[in-house]
Amino acid sequence: MSMNTQGRPTAPVAGSAAEDTSEMTPVFESFSGHRGLRLFEPLIFELGSADTTGVDVDEVGDFEMSIAGLERTAEIGCPGLPEPDAVRHFTRLSRRNYGIDMGVFPLGSCTMKHNPRLNEKMARLPGFGDIHPLQPTSTVQGALELMDQLSHWICSLTGMPAVALSPKAGAHGELCGVMAIRAALEARGDAREVVLCPESAHGTNPATAAFCGYKVKSIPAKGNGRVDLDALVEALDDTVAAVMITNPNTCGLFETEVKDIADAIHKAGAFFYCDGANFNAIMGKARPGDLGVDAMHLNLHKTFSTPHGGGGPGSGPVVFSDALKDFAPLPNVITGEGGKDLHEWSDEKDRSLGRLTAFHGQMGMYVRALSYMLSHGVDGIRQAAEDAVLNANYVLASLQGIMSASYEGPCMHEALFDDGFLKDTGVTTLDFAKAMIDEGYHPMTMYFPLVVHGAMLIEPTETESKYNMDQFIGSMRGLAETAVAGDTARFEGAPYFAPWKRLDETQAARQPVLRYSPPESDQ
Ligand SMILES: *Cc1c(COP(=O)(O)O)cnc(C)c1O
Repeated sequence: MSMNTQGRPTAPVAGSAAEDTSEMTPVFESFSGHRGLRLFEPLIFELGSADTTGVDVDEVGDFEMSIAGLERTAEIGCPGLPEPDAVRHFTRLSRRNYGIDMGVFPLGSCTMKHNPRLNEKMARLPGFGDIHPLQPTSTVQGALELMDQLSHWICSLTGMPAVALSPKAGAHGELCGVMAIRAALEARGDAREVVLCPESAHGTNPATAAFCGYKVKSIPAKGNGRVDLDALVEALDDTVAAVMITNPNTCGLFETEVKDIADAIHKAGAFFYCDGANFNAIMGKARPGDLGVDAMHLNLHKTFSTPHGGGGPGSGPVVFSDALKDFAPLPNVITGEGGKDLHEWSDEKDRSLGRLTAFHGQMGMYVRALSYMLSHGVDGIRQAAEDAVLNANYVLASLQGIMSASYEGPCMHEALFDDGFLKDTGVTTLDFAKAMIDEGYHPMTMYFPLVVHGAMLIEPTETESKYNMDQFIGSMRGLAETAVAGDTARFEGAPYFAPWKRLDETQAARQPVLRYSPPESDQ
């Protein structure tokens, strides 16, 4: 396999794409194609036909088409299934999925948190679940009150004076923050053109800066996995608009010099954007406002338990310092004589960057996040951060002798290993991750961050019990010992027990096949 200098595969793994040769050969083939309770499932297009339907709808009577003869005449080609078969299809597919409700999900950087069912119940209360964003504000006072309370909690926990709730993901929050920085610089007539990001930055940081029209320059890390302050100071001049730094950083380490970093940034007239994706590790313990941060997004789905959307409803509120708060996007909740209201439009004196989303953001996520905050209380939130750090350090300490930790000393909420311990074994980080699937675990984050070779970033989640942690650690130890002992067969064909083998992920991402074409014989 070809690797780049950081130990990340650069090409698909030859010969391994979806081939079934490595599957453990069963003693017989079943007539049905099912394997015990692991049911074979075709595509819904292969199962259904356009003439079948799960609903009974009366024929429409005579009516006139009013779309100027532009109506479709060809078949749409959607498959139809009776209801029981549709239910079975999606239930069978869902059983092939792996989620946080199924087992330990050690994906580093992403914080897969347990979502308490209480939050779900609250989000489904009709007063929250059934409202519409265009309803008159007098009829949604409770929802506005909730947004106001959530803002208050977020500002208190971060020690920042203002928050914009509307951004819809961490990456969207970054866009919001850097746009506010841009607006602030433009307001003072300062055309700076560079944004500095550390080498270990999440890809969204440089992407955001570039999207906002900035040149991105990278700042190196020191041997202890933290930003090199001297190199940062050297790179800071009057062309630098902002520095984007993740704290705790993507190596799972706290940037201990963060206050000096903030001072240096401000001295150069630039802004400090903090990527707050890892706030989970410090909430209730440290406040970004005290560390000199000017803008920071929170990923509600990584910190306050709301579900990871799978492309669905995310939420990434952004907190702002005094220097930036006037430039925050609209709308925001205000309290007037008649109760709560939304400040929706900017007028002449407003310096707001305007709107980032239609409506007001993800109400359902606000309800879940506030439910999480209220049910935990500040002490519970602090404990969640402490337990996240404890669990990660338990993993780090338990695997220290057998896997290679990338940096010395304790970590925050995630433990970073590299592939040093696999040297000369013929087993790669990718093989190791695939073997974890056979052990019943979703793999850890691999080949990120880029600053260590063959990275394995493990984030165990604070809600995992000692029993779960010990089982996971047992599997990791077992795999590491097997690899070091030279038993490569366990890894070469892994995953043996998964319904699909090593897919060609590069090709799937670059050349996705999004359209079903029926086999020749059906055409
Ligand atoms: C997850 C993450 C992001 C992006 O957040 P999304 O909500 O996935 O858009 C940005 N930075 C870091 C460090 C992250 O872990």
